Amino acid sequence: MRPPQTLNELRRMSARVGSNILLVQGAGGNSSVKDGDVLWVKASGTWLADAEDKDIFVPVALSAARAALMQGDERVPLAPNAGTSLRASIETSLHALMPHRIVLHVHSVNTIAWAVRTDARTEFARRMDGLAWRYLNYHHPGLPLARAVGEAIAQDAVDVLILGNHGLVVGADTCDAAEALVADVEQRLALEQRHAPAADYDALRKIHTGTNYRLPRDPRGHGIATDRYSRAIATSGSLYPDHVVFLGPGLPVLEHRESLGDVIAQTTADGLSPPVALLVPGVGSLIREDASDGAEAMLSCLALVTCRLPLIARVNYLTAENEHALLNWDAERYRQQLTADR
Ligand SMILES: [Zn+2]
Repeated sequence: MRPPQTLNELRRMSARVGSNILLVQGAGGNSSVKDGDVLWVKASGTWLADAEDKDIFVPVALSAARAALMQGDERVPLAPNAGTSLRASIETSLHALMPHRIVLHVHSVNTIAWAVRTDARTEFARRMDGLAWRYLNYHHPGLPLARAVGEAIAQDAVDVLILGNHGLVVGADTCDAAEALVADVEQRLALEQRHAPAADYDALRKIHTGTNYRLPRDPRGHGIATDRYSRAIATSGSLYPDHVVFLGPGLPVLEHRESLGDVIAQTTADGLSPPVALLVPGVGSLIREDASDGAEAMLSCLALVTCRLPLIARVNYLTAENEHALLNWDAERYRQQLTADR
């Protein structure tokens, strides 16, 4: 199937956006272009950062996808002769519903740092003034989120959607305009970062030696453990879906004088797998040796978000039901598998 000329522009823009960790982490975020009755959308489990080097976009039959959505069917029909074995993104329905030619969905950290708060409504109204925008409460990604988006855009012409405990969606006519709109929103919602105390690398090495844990590749991940406010937020619950999918609910802590070897032995004895990542308070973070690039990216993301949450913030966490729905979702297992094999 022959891709439209605009797909090259979408590739370039997506690679740029996907390489900026303040906008997209790991396999998160997605983009699309509509060309007649075909929606070219990012494939599930692929990375926007790879958009110029790999074929990450799949053609979807647009009107069929919209019809399936109306009937509550989450499976997305690919265009005839799609010629790919990849699946369309689990957030494709969102792209199909938005009327704009270009749709860009990101997990931008300034937006997320506001969108996890229950006390941000007046601040949103002030900072977003002049944009055609709407705020949506948290909905499970896929069909429930698409339904909420459908209701919102049926009422108003909206170019910007802030997704509670999730991220940002923008629609525009061109790739440049979509990218600029994301930058504008992030600028309006920009927050100051708290600087975390440095990690104690010697202590961390002593703790993980002889176990199947290691240091995270991105040193920013330690800030969640060394800054007590970030740590309090991170250990109280899960803030957004990709965190739960790649790192599990919340983040566990290695208590004072607790041995990492004992914790691993205990979780294994309980029939559970040891946590993907854990925090050593005041010392730093550790990640399992087999952690995927996606999990690494999510640890960095949590550091970037929590250090932007002011101490007075009233945080809204995902419920146990929200977490359960994310962990028992076949579409997510597929995405996680692909991401692990990147
Ligand atoms: Zn998302």
